[in-house]
Amino acid sequence: MGNRPVVSCEVNTCTHWLPGQRCGAGNIDILHEEEGHMARSPQHTQCKTFAQRRGVPNLLGSLDNVNWQGLTSAYFRPGQQITPTVTCVVSSCRFWGDGNVCEADRIEVTGLDADESQDTNCHTYDRRQGSTG
Ligand code: SF4
Ligand code: SF4
Repeated sequence: MGNRPVVSCEVNTCTHWLPGQRCGAGNIDILHEEEGHMARSPQHTQCKTFAQRRGVPNLLGSLDNVNWQGLTSAYFRPGQQITPTVTCVVSSCRFWGDGNVCEADRIEVTGLDADESQDTNCHTYDRRQGSTG
């Protein structure tokens, strides 16, 4: 596994969200907001792994994508960093690298009170110079 940016997320309506702007998912997928439309701004991106928090059934539905090791230690030590791996297809971003990796040190996922993944954004998206997107 290559670079692993620290994910800071404000989307507290997501089932993966943890206090302290953390994400407990094992991996997150950052996609274009509309298929076939290359992103030109953070608003054109989304965290596709977003799943609306709706009580127990939804929580169980997310159990196959949980960073258990990070979660266990993070619960014992609340200040501890926990962060998912990031898979990103937004190649018009200057942080994007071959193999759908994100080469930023840190990304911020925004979209307070999101109801669906389209309401979320990778706020760190920065348009690559010369991008034809
Ligand atoms: S919106 Fe994405 S980054 Fe934020 S908690 Fe949910 S899965 Fe994690
Ligand atoms: S900063 Fe760019 S490459 Fe990294 S996840 Fe966000 S959109 Fe993708």
